[in-house]
Amino acid sequence: MVRPVTCPICHKPVQASKTLPFCSERCRTIDFFRWNDGRYAIVEPLDPTRIQEELLKGSDSEEHELLKGSDSEEHAEE
Ligand SMILES: [Zn+2]
Repeated sequence: MVRPVTCPICHKPVQASKTLPFCSERCRTIDFFRWNDGRYAIVEPLDPTRIQEELLKGSDSEEHELLKGSDSEEHAEE
């Protein structure tokens, strides 16, 4: 007899065994972040590739700010 397992995040019946006790990778990630840092409420699905993009974007924009800063300083002097 198989006991029905429900996802602790969305309470859907769980079928895939590789993500137990969660129904999906997404719910597992949500649960992980909930326990990892209770301050953040996860409302959007987490995509690791998107997080990487955000990190890359962050460092890139910082560089731009630095370039913009030195450029405007030169203009101010003239
Ligand atoms: Zn779920």
